[in-house]
Amino acid sequence: MADNLSPLESEIRRRIAVGGPISVADYMRLCLTHPQYGYYINRDPFGARGDFITAPEISQMFGELIGLWMATVWRQMGAPQSLRVIELGPGRGTLLIDALRAVRVVDRFHAAVTLHLVEISTALQRMQNERLKSLDVPKFWHTALEEVPDGPCIIIANEFIDALPVHQAVKRPSGWYERVIEVDSDGNLVFGLNYDPLPHFEATLPDGLRHCANGSIFEWRADAIALELGRRVRSDGAALILDYGHVQCALGDTLQAVAGHAYTNPLRAPGEADITAHVDFDALAQRADIVGGRVHGPITQRDFLLHLGIDKRAAALKANAVHEKALEIDRALARLTAMSARGMGELFKVLAIADPKLGALPGFETSS
Ligand code: SAH
Repeated sequence: MADNLSPLESEIRRRIAVGGPISVADYMRLCLTHPQYGYYINRDPFGARGDFITAPEISQMFGELIGLWMATVWRQMGAPQSLRVIELGPGRGTLLIDALRAVRVVDRFHAAVTLHLVEISTALQRMQNERLKSLDVPKFWHTALEEVPDGPCIIIANEFIDALPVHQAVKRPSGWYERVIEVDSDGNLVFGLNYDPLPHFEATLPDGLRHCANGSIFEWRADAIALELGRRVRSDGAALILDYGHVQCALGDTLQAVAGHAYTNPLRAPGEADITAHVDFDALAQRADIVGGRVHGPITQRDFLLHLGIDKRAAALKANAVHEKALEIDRALARLTAMSARGMGELFKVLAIADPKLGALPGFETSS
């Protein structure tokens, strides 16, 4: 066993010693959001010098187009005098800065907006507060969506759901078993299986996934966030969810850890790497639909951004840019929309959940 354990690894081992193996979801929750040692709690993980880069940090165009999306949806809602713009997991706050700058000229929109930032990390809350100072709209911070008052709202979640804890189950001849983290005889953190199978698990799986091969892995997240999103937006609201994931429920282990822009072992140095798993858009859409939200998409990020006119926005920015800057805009456009393995255009999907009264939403017109 390693001598120099991080404080979080010591804490995780203590928990396992006392209560037995912990689920992948509990492990992920501790790694990301442990109140003292969680990955997001003490640091700024974004950008070229951080661990990973997100779409709003790649280009201002991303936030600007989402700003226009918000203003259009607000008009479709009948331009209510008071609108809560809620962002889940705002990171550095860049998306909101670009979004609200882009719609400064939309009559009465700024006057209607109060910002609600749902952010679990006090360090990131402080940074957001600092960076959003120049935005002349009321701002409130919360640690959970449930704390935000009800009422007309637009909710944005970019790369938020992938960071929510995911459970995994593994198929064995005698049933499905929840995957857990335990300590092996050499003292290492390792994956294992719960002692008892999950009751009736196979029957709860989507049709196409039953009777699959031994060793198959199925992942799922708690329903709470999808149900809460659907409940909030079903009357006078809309939510836009952008993330990497799959359109249809599927089998497979997508748990991944990233540090310094490279993949690492999720069980090494807990709390030092970002741990995420793909979003199951199918499951999200079903839950949101059950509580009365209308689902739009999912479509690829490429299609969504092109429908909103990202290529025209890029051309307009380039028209006023020096050569170096123009190349940068081209690179950002390619990265956000490319279908290649490194591009975000295909892996990233966009789903909206909205009040059924709103009809077709911008970006989804041809596919909803
Ligand atoms: N949307 C931003 C940041 C994505 S990273 C961007 O696109 O750049 C995920 C963000 O969600 C971080 O701000 C992180 O601190 C926050 N976060 C992660 N888990 C959370 C939780 N359970 N509740 C609230 N915020 C959370």
